[in-house]
Formats: sequence, structure tokens, C-alpha cells
Amino acid sequence: MLSRSIEDYIKAIYALEAEDEKASTKHIAQRLGVRMASVTGMLKHLASEGYVTHTPYYGVKMTDRGRRVALGLIRRHRLIELFLAKTLGLPWDEVHDDAEVLEHVVSDRLIERIFEFLGFPEFDPHGSPIPGKDGSIAPRQGIRLDEMKPGQRGTVVEVSDRDPEFLRYLTSLKLKIGSEIRVRDRAPFNGPITLAVGSRSVAIGHEAGARVRVSIHGGLARRARKRE
Ligand SMILES: [Zn+2]
Repeated sequence: MLSRSIEDYIKAIYALEAEDEKASTKHIAQRLGVRMASVTGMLKHLASEGYVTHTPYYGVKMTDRGRRVALGLIRRHRLIELFLAKTLGLPWDEVHDDAEVLEHVVSDRLIERIFEFLGFPEFDPHGSPIPGKDGSIAPRQGIRLDEMKPGQRGTVVEVSDRDPEFLRYLTSLKLKIGSEIRVRDRAPFNGPITLAVGSRSVAIGHEAGARVRVSIHGGLARRARKRE
């Protein structure tokens, strides 16, 4: 078994690559909340173990070996979150932190039992795909809410789970997985995006919009727009 710290680095590098961010020393340090000097040492170690390749002045790239470890951890994390939400009824903002700890210690046998018990689920409580045991993962669904155009409609399919405060904010807006939304208006100069959620009107900023993914329904909702 790898140490928790090594596993956290591998996950952080995988997440940065998945977000199209360069896995540079600086980005990794920011993500893990550690000093850059500690990152440098760890990256050398990860490279020597074959989890990443190190390119001077760029940062690191994940190898297939590293990716397998990352996806295994993500599988554990997301199944634990779903288990806590479904069986204990914990709200979506209270499962991530415990999953961050448990993912490192729960046995493979228990994880696979949880997977069976939950009926072979495909998504976690935040709408993120659960990787398969073979290391496969479904592509992310939808587009970012902040990239939607006025008139576009869709269903909220995934939200970022890293910040419980953000999830509580979404809850206060009554936005959840499965919410049907329509973009009413985008204020100029990166101003707020106004959404119709049912009969309510909700304004959301770009930073929050970037953490929400929406599966778009076909075509623009022209008729609905005209009535406004
Ligand atoms: Zn999580």
C-alpha cells in the first residue's frame, strides 16, 4: 500500500491534468496546500517510481501506471461518498471530507462489496462518474454552466465536490443534480448569469458557474425567450 501522502499527490496531478491545467510544481503546491520545496522532492520520488515523468521547466506528466493508481483512488472516493450519502443519508456537502480519509484505508474487498450493495452505480452524489475496477472512466457529461448561451436549456449533471461551502451555496439556490435550468441572460463584462430554475430566477457568478456542468437540451428555447 502506498502512503497517504503519495496517493494524494497522484490524485492531485491526475485532477490537474483532467482540468487541462499544467501539473507544475506551483499548481500542485496550491492544490495540496503544501510548500513548493516539498513538492519538488516528492515529484522526484514519484518519477523514480514510474508514476510520472518529469520535464524540467514544465512540471510532470502522469504515466499509465500513475493513472491506474489515481483512478483506483477516485473509484474508492466516489463509492465511499455515495455509500455515506445513500446509507447514512448524509447531505452532499458532508461526504467529501470523510471520503478523503477513508479512501486510503478501506480494503479493496470492502469497496467491491459497497459497489455491489449500491447496485453497481455509475455516478457519485455530485454527478461525477465512478471509474470501473479495470481503470476505465466515462467521459464527463455536459458543458460548464458559465459557457452556456442565453436561451440554452439543460439539466445539471455534475458539480465540483471540493468545497462544502460551495455545495451549501448551491443548496441555498435550490440547485442540485437533475435541476432543469435555462439561461435567461448573461450580463456583459463577465457579470452574473441569470438562470430560470423552475419558476424562479437565480443569478450565479462565473466562478460558481465554472464548477457546475450541464447537459444541454437540443436547440435554443426560442419560444420561452419571446415571452419574457
Ligand atoms: Zn469527493
